[in-house]
Amino acid sequence: MKVVIDPGHGGSDTGATGFGLREADVALKLAELVGEYFGKYEGAVVTFTRNRNTSSSYPGPPEGLRKRIAYANSTNADLFLSLHCNAGGGSGFESYIAKGAPARTQKIQNAINDSVLGYLKGYGIGPHGNVAKNDTQGAYSRIAVLRDTKMSAVLLENLFIDNPKENKLLRDRRFLDGLAKAIVKGVAVAFGLKEKVAKPKPMYRVTVDGKEIVDTAYEDKIATIVVESIRKSVKEINIKEI
Ligand SMILES: [Zn+2]
Repeated sequence: MKVVIDPGHGGSDTGATGFGLREADVALKLAELVGEYFGKYEGAVVTFTRNRNTSSSYPGPPEGLRKRIAYANSTNADLFLSLHCNAGGGSGFESYIAKGAPARTQKIQNAINDSVLGYLKGYGIGPHGNVAKNDTQGAYSRIAVLRDTKMSAVLLENLFIDNPKENKLLRDRRFLDGLAKAIVKGVAVAFGLKEKVAKPKPMYRVTVDGKEIVDTAYEDKIATIVVESIRKSVKEINIKEI
């Protein structure tokens, strides 16, 4: 499963601002965390439309939305996930898909909404009106990324940057971390992604010349025993997983 993460704005385009906080910076930080969480799922491949210093298209020079769309369409991705913050004196979370988007995209949008709203409930934050919105504002350039991308595309408006309470949360790394986790969990539900199982470190029994020496999971310890044994010119070193 391949996802293109699109941190909104960037470069000279700060996006909305609130109390000195820039939407472009929040979007990038959130995007990086979202990318990390995808790493916890099997088979998830992540790319970004921009990095730290560019306004668009990763890799490449800043060029705006067209370049992001062209880049996304060149990747054969399954999902385009655009991350933004809202502004204009409201509160809460909402998401957008293109007008007339297929049921599959709606399903992804709903899964993300359910997961994110579940997380935000703990902070006393709900949806901004109807949480699942179709883009009927085709004139707005931001929605071009939904309209012109070939894959399922969802745009998230993650709280209001000009709302004092939400602004404070958007500066809080722990909050963003939980938000990123919730976003990815929603995507994982929609795509049936499985979490990677953390393998316990294998334990080894190291025997030197048939004499049991040590059981350990530490590579350093094994390496030391091997090196010391060779120095002592032993005949046989056996390392066996137990
Ligand atoms: Zn934006």
